[in-house]
Amino acid sequence: MKVINDPVAIQKLKQAERLVVLTGAGVSAESGIPTFRGEEGLWKKLSPEELASFEAFYNNTAVVSEWYQHRREIIHNTEPNPGHHALAELQKLAPTFDLITQNVDGLHQRAGSSDVVELHGNIMENYCVNCNLQYSQEEFDDIFRHNPNHIPHCYCGGLIRPNVVWFGEALPEESIEKAYQASKQSDVFLSVGTSAQVSPASNLPRVAKQNNSYLIEINKTVTAISDIVDLHLEGLSGEILPMFLDDYKLLRNDK
Ligand SMILES: [Zn+2]
Repeated sequence: MKVINDPVAIQKLKQAERLVVLTGAGVSAESGIPTFRGEEGLWKKLSPEELASFEAFYNNTAVVSEWYQHRREIIHNTEPNPGHHALAELQKLAPTFDLITQNVDGLHQRAGSSDVVELHGNIMENYCVNCNLQYSQEEFDDIFRHNPNHIPHCYCGGLIRPNVVWFGEALPEESIEKAYQASKQSDVFLSVGTSAQVSPASNLPRVAKQNNSYLIEINKTVTAISDIVDLHLEGLSGEILPMFLDDYKLLRNDK
């Protein structure tokens, strides 16, 4: 075994019918996606708090839209890392598997994960605030390119916004409901690369624990949930998850 040495963890993973994984910004950061916090996150001297709200979008549509195009460009030029790939493979092996993410970059899907529960939306999707018409990134790019003012309008005249959850907005109801249900029913719950500070995502490991799930955390530092987890694996998810996958394969074959 490379990382799963704890006998209880081995037993729990052997028996687990449902594996649930929650991922956060740390997993994307390892692919080179900035967290948009602090100095490096400033865009035209504006903080994410000044850009990622409906009010900002409404009052300053061009600047906010340019910022999202800039972020999409960064994401477009990055690749899923070994952690993303390991999770995609884990999905194929586990009897039941749910992947819940706080990330909006779609890197899990690019690595091959399916049915990803996206708590904060997906930055590559757009929709009209007036008529709800969905726009693919290609369609949006086309509208944006042909619009010198960088104010993207729908055919109906409404503004087109990114499909992400902004400050002050509620999470998509269906996603959060799915996430809670999966967490409750999990036998093993993995919290990966998340500081576990932002509610309601931060509640999910706690909900899992209250329902007798075995809690494993993978993070490069100690977090707000480290004191309640059953196993804390310290390090980069891109390094630990591939080893975790190898261990999981071994112990599932050794029933
Ligand atoms: Zn519209």
